Amino acid sequence: MGQGADMSDSAYDKLIERSREIALFTSSAGLLSWDQETFMPGGGVNYRAEQLAFLGGKAHALFTAPEVGEWIATEEGGASDGVQAANVRAWRWSYDRATKLPVEFVQERARVSSLAKSAWAEARETSEFSRFAPHLEKIVDLNRRQADYYGYEGEPYDALLETYERGATTAGVGGLFEDLKPQLREIGRAAAERSANVPADLLAGDYPQTAQADFNSAVAAAFGFDFQRGRIDTTTHPFCTGLAPGDTRLTTRYDTRDFSSSFYGVLHETGHGLYEQGLPEEHFGTPAGSSASLGIHESQSRLWENHVGRQPAFWNHWYGKAVESLPTLKSRSVEDLSAAAARSQAGFIRVDADEATYDLHIILRFEIERELISGELAVADLPEAWNARFENFFGLQVDKDSNGCLQDIHWSMGALGYFPTYTIGNLCAAQLFAKAGEEISGMDQQLATGNYSELLAWLRSRIHEKGSQLLPNELIEQATGQPLDARFHLEHLKARYL
Ligand code: ZN
Repeated sequence: MGQGADMSDSAYDKLIERSREIALFTSSAGLLSWDQETFMPGGGVNYRAEQLAFLGGKAHALFTAPEVGEWIATEEGGASDGVQAANVRAWRWSYDRATKLPVEFVQERARVSSLAKSAWAEARETSEFSRFAPHLEKIVDLNRRQADYYGYEGEPYDALLETYERGATTAGVGGLFEDLKPQLREIGRAAAERSANVPADLLAGDYPQTAQADFNSAVAAAFGFDFQRGRIDTTTHPFCTGLAPGDTRLTTRYDTRDFSSSFYGVLHETGHGLYEQGLPEEHFGTPAGSSASLGIHESQSRLWENHVGRQPAFWNHWYGKAVESLPTLKSRSVEDLSAAAARSQAGFIRVDADEATYDLHIILRFEIERELISGELAVADLPEAWNARFENFFGLQVDKDSNGCLQDIHWSMGALGYFPTYTIGNLCAAQLFAKAGEEISGMDQQLATGNYSELLAWLRSRIHEKGSQLLPNELIEQATGQPLDARFHLEHLKARYL
């Protein structure tokens, strides 16, 4: 037990102290992971894995200790609202989940997914599904067993989905996706037609990396990202990680022929970073100081990237600075930049998909995962099922499994139930942006002149400062006055692409 815990401390004080102690381990692990993805030489990989396993093990043991369960039980039945009650509810949920899985199961899962990851990488390389299939069989089985350990009310997939998006149900998400599906297909087709005369290489040119970094940082700072309390570095797979109050790291990768991939990547990660920088510092290391969910996190990144950064008015304001930083753009017009930002074309790969087609990729994965878990779809039949559905959704025939069911890393990591959070993020982003536009007078005018402070302040007070005191669906309902509704996202896409 650390300093400050004596006999007079309440169970709640002890929980706060334990929670902050765990945060020391997890944030240190976070820094080591960030380093691994940015600066660590390849030779460090084995010892780094040991360091991370050690810190993860310590954090897990501290949280699952029997006294933590006793402290939580002591505090339950106290106040039913406020920060304290929210923390106790969140700890209860995490504690039950963390203690429901037998140690042998957790070890087996780690073993299976570490083998599956390398098998998947090889299978994707050679586009041979049969090399990954036996591993995926085991992963589906493990996920079913995990759902049984956790328990669920509706179907097993509920328990998996809730791992990533608390409070979400398969039926609820399925309903939202059914509303979206037919209209998304129509929007996708129309958007592609409208983009037919916008060449894919419209902005191709010479963009030195340092000049890109300079322009990216200027826009991130204008959005409100605080570089005294954060930084941007280079990586292969871009991400954002909030390490501590006052230390949020963004990463990006550069293509010197096309500035827009790092640029929109940075706008996306800036949205994540603004959320991390806006979490209440006084609650750091406790649930009230943590983000609400993956879906809510994604709503912040998509809002800044798509709703702010891809609107036509955006480039009216930023064109001058863009040309100054990136002289290649002198030969392009404001209209070229706006057209490229809203260009749409159906393709095989989710991570390359544009805003108008992205969600269909997610709905496809959700439907397939649900069927794999329920047993309706056998792993052996996955490629066929994927390809048939893909053709139905996008009108394209998948040419090889590496462009189809082998493209994503998620399943090889054992993560089923994760994908829906991306589209939940899009839906939340649209609903929040619409509400902000209603409540902030002259918001469009502000954004068109590069003034983002009122929008950020609105997001701070409605989302960031709340941490995870509310469940994601409650948070959205409180912020916008109504439950999550697909209509706002569809209206946004129609306004931009039809
Ligand atoms: Zn994201």
